[in-house]
Amino acid sequence: MVEHVDFNGFMEGVKRRNPHQPEFVQAVQEVAEDIFDFIEDKEDYHSEQILRRIAEPDRVVSFRVCWEDDKGDIRVQRGWRVQNNNAIGPYKGGIRFHSSVTESVLKFLAFEQTFKNALTGLPMGGGKGGSNFNPKGKSEREIMRFCQSFMTELYRHIGPDVDVPAGDIGVGGREIGYMFGQYKRITNHFNGVLTGKGLEYGGSLIRPEATGYGAVYFLANMLATKEMDLEGKTAAISGSGNVATHAAEKIIQLGGKVLTLSDSGGFIHDPDGIDLEKLHWVKDHKNRQRGRISEYAERYSNATFHEGKTPWHVTCDVALPCATQNELLGDDARALVENGCIAVSEGANMPTDLEGVHVFKVAKLLYAPGKAANAGGVAVSGLEMSQNSLRRSWSEDELQEMLRDIMHGIHERCLTYGTQDGGYTDYVKGANIAGFKKVADAMLAFGV
Ligand code: GLU
Repeated sequence: MVEHVDFNGFMEGVKRRNPHQPEFVQAVQEVAEDIFDFIEDKEDYHSEQILRRIAEPDRVVSFRVCWEDDKGDIRVQRGWRVQNNNAIGPYKGGIRFHSSVTESVLKFLAFEQTFKNALTGLPMGGGKGGSNFNPKGKSEREIMRFCQSFMTELYRHIGPDVDVPAGDIGVGGREIGYMFGQYKRITNHFNGVLTGKGLEYGGSLIRPEATGYGAVYFLANMLATKEMDLEGKTAAISGSGNVATHAAEKIIQLGGKVLTLSDSGGFIHDPDGIDLEKLHWVKDHKNRQRGRISEYAERYSNATFHEGKTPWHVTCDVALPCATQNELLGDDARALVENGCIAVSEGANMPTDLEGVHVFKVAKLLYAPGKAANAGGVAVSGLEMSQNSLRRSWSEDELQEMLRDIMHGIHERCLTYGTQDGGYTDYVKGANIAGFKKVADAMLAFGV
């Protein structure tokens, strides 16, 4: 008979076993707070140590990546693939190339991904990979050589029924193309080993749009519970990459007004609203020309640039953090609440720190954690896997409808497990319990 550990004992163990991994410990704590309540009277989950097992990645593969820069110098980076849990399907999750990538960051992302993927209702386990390679300022050829070197190590650990990586920060369609090309060169297999592929070679329509659109659909679902919609609502959005710009696009299409976007240098505030034409300029400027968001304020004279700041002190009805982890802290959350913000939908993974999450919960804001709100991206990745297995492509209309249905389904699951007496829905709790229950029940079925 295993003795039950309480929440504090459990977290002490997590901290002890994962020294110097603050992001991973933070992600586990946010989940464990809810799960301990839920499993209190459930003997199986305790005796089988299910949460302890989910919070211990199945595998952390760490490898050296050597590549040659344009000057002919040899550069050395670290690469990882964290395979967190495959109880309900092959490991699935993105690859991140950013100077802030560490084993801790990838472990937190793979852990979150496990719950997120379960929430989609599709058969996908959780994983994440990446490297501390910094793509900023690198040439096309350097990016290509790095992606090839990365895949030369990674290919032996992945496969369409084993582990299916995709993009994340610093990894878009171009990088997926280079990695898929290298996988194909080495293995001679043409299959669905990666998602986010180009349409010409097995990619899915609406994959680039899916994360941002999905986060707005989730937001609209939350507002609908209060008989509200996005028409006329002002939105503060952080980030200016794939997730942020597509979230902005959908907000505008649904009648909202986007006030802000940001990058690592600061944020722009446009009181006139960033309309579709301005957004098109941002996309082109950021993606193709690799420019800075600050240049927006030089082009559109009513807009202002706020160097080194995040947009959370701007008065808005809804907020969408779509940049990166821990970009919205306790004080930011308090400012949003005080300025009358109604709802927050996270396009990024764990953008709000633990203090911020508690502020939102106490204020009873409509607050959707990333693992629920941004699941549209991986959901369409799951649909890309299905299309690859079927060797066919679905139409844009079919996929749009599936994405909307999936986001609606995730929202329903959050309501089921997160709605409390009095009617307030704790979406964090709902998402954590719904995701956990599915994975845990599969693990129970398999035995130890
Ligand atoms: N990186 C995305 C996420 O955080 C997508 C992962 C995928 O498509 O596999 O969910």
